[in-house]
Amino acid sequence: MTVERMTNDALIHASSVVVIGAGFTGLSLAYELAKKGIEVTVLESQDQLGGLAGSFEINGANIEKFYHHWFTNDLAAMRLIEDLGLQSNLIIKPSRTGIYVGNNFFKLSNPVDLLRFKPLSMIGRIRLGLLTLMVRRVSDWRALESKTAAEWLRKMCGDEVYKVVWEPLLRGKFGNAAEDVSAVWIWNKLKLRGSSRGKGGKEQLAYYQGGFSSFIENIADEIRKLGGVILTQSAVTELVVSEGRVTGVVSNNTSFIADAVVATPSLPVIAELLEKHGSQDYLEKLRSVKYLANICIVLELKRSLSSTYWLNVNDPGFPFVAVIEHTNFASPDNYGGSHIVYLSKYLPEQNELFTMGDDEVVDYTLSHLKRMFPEFGREWIVSATVWRAKCSQPIVSKWYSSVVPEADTELAGFYINTMAQIYPEDRGTNYAIRQGRRMASRFVKS
Ligand SMILES: Cc1cc2nc3c(=O)[nH]c(=O)nc-3n(C[C@H](O)[C@H](O)[C@H](O)COP(=O)(O)OP(=O)(O)OC[C@H]3O[C@@H](n4cnc5c(N)ncnc54)[C@H](O)[C@@H]3O)c2cc1C
Repeated sequence: MTVERMTNDALIHASSVVVIGAGFTGLSLAYELAKKGIEVTVLESQDQLGGLAGSFEINGANIEKFYHHWFTNDLAAMRLIEDLGLQSNLIIKPSRTGIYVGNNFFKLSNPVDLLRFKPLSMIGRIRLGLLTLMVRRVSDWRALESKTAAEWLRKMCGDEVYKVVWEPLLRGKFGNAAEDVSAVWIWNKLKLRGSSRGKGGKEQLAYYQGGFSSFIENIADEIRKLGGVILTQSAVTELVVSEGRVTGVVSNNTSFIADAVVATPSLPVIAELLEKHGSQDYLEKLRSVKYLANICIVLELKRSLSSTYWLNVNDPGFPFVAVIEHTNFASPDNYGGSHIVYLSKYLPEQNELFTMGDDEVVDYTLSHLKRMFPEFGREWIVSATVWRAKCSQPIVSKWYSSVVPEADTELAGFYINTMAQIYPEDRGTNYAIRQGRRMASRFVKS
């Protein structure tokens, strides 16, 4: 069962809406509003659309700054693709996943791989396998809200499995906050991944021909066709408020007047916009949700590192939690024959790695990559690009439902529709699309 914090589902009558942010949430919301004949203006601070799913160019092809794929059960994304008649662009394939533990690589794509997973005793392997079944038996996620992921996983699969598999993954993803992460977060991840499998238990993933940016452009084109306006390099710096109600926003010293405003950026950005218009208690609540930043090093290589698409790095001695060889899913032919590898790390934005210069980041991470792949050499590199994003991952702690803000705010006419409100699922473009659609369902053209 899914509950998003939109308990106040009262209809909103509006003839014009400003949407702040052109990520997947903002664009899917704008698309649905435009379909209803509502005048919609999307204002995006960056010079491109897509937010965290934004792209850059390698050999003339767009590729995500931060690796992206869908699971086959990402139904909101699939439905939107279908709605736009773009199914032929969807690529669905099995993917190879693996894990790096104790200086060794192990395949972990299907149940047979699991039975051969030597870092665990046979009992440990069975307990890890049984976790998938136990996850399905949880009928009410609320019962998990009082537990941390660490407590729940230890109970479900024992200390050995926790130490070898889960602790390094949680630490890699959440760093010092790993012990605070809610059992609901990991339960949902496991549940969703378990149901994105094809015959033989192999995980199937989905991607979009031309990359996520092509899909984003396709949605944006539809919004424009329906009369919507999308402006980039248009950061919203102020809200226009009259008699306790939002009547528009200011961007680039221009006022955009609207009956309602929906904000999709992270909660700290929204709290800033509401600074003059919200009570201290409310602003504190918005700021109580903590996030991690992310840094991705994207390597364009002359050679492939391995045949694995997604390699979890279960070793705290490495400064990244995963090595994702994108071109083991999408063909290198799309990128002029280059092999594309992401090295990813979630971290607090004050972390040294996040604040280092790009060259330093690359030097630092490459020395570690060479420890994993001794044959790898700098001469393989065609280009290395570093991308950073603040507020990439909300930290879903115990009793998260009590801190998630509702869509309705203290300011009449101003609504919040952000990834931090996605719960019990974790953020992702699929849920961003769903969230945008749900928000739009409350709007009625006046
Ligand atoms: C490393 C990494 C890997 C990921 N991998 C996947 C994956 O494989 N699959 C998947 O589905 N999802 C993945 N995600 C998650 C996915 O990218 C996000 O869940 C999704 O893109 C969030 O969309 P959004 O629109 O809610 O937020 P955002 O993308 O953050 O959009 C908010 C927008 O608001 C804009 N904005 C901010 N302030 C202002 C302002 N004042 N005025 C105007 N505009 C403003 C921002 O520039 C941004 O464009 C990943 C994320 C990361 C960081």
